[in-house]
Amino acid sequence: MNWTNILTKFLHNGEKGKCPQCGSSELTVETMSFGRRSITFHCNKCGASRHFDGIAPANEK
Ligand SMILES: [Zn+2]
Repeated sequence: MNWTNILTKFLHNGEKGKCPQCGSSELTVETMSFGRRSITFHCNKCGASRHFDGIAPANEK
């Protein structure tokens, strides 16, 4: 499981998944949908984070 897998899963079914670095499920997801859509994942346990920019809204329900 890496950040891209987590993003894909989140876009498909809204699941946040687990941190690829420490395995914690305490992930914070910040979504910004103005302009180009972007999503930031942040692990509350180990502090790892990943930012995705310009995500296509194709998988939204
Ligand atoms: Zn972590």
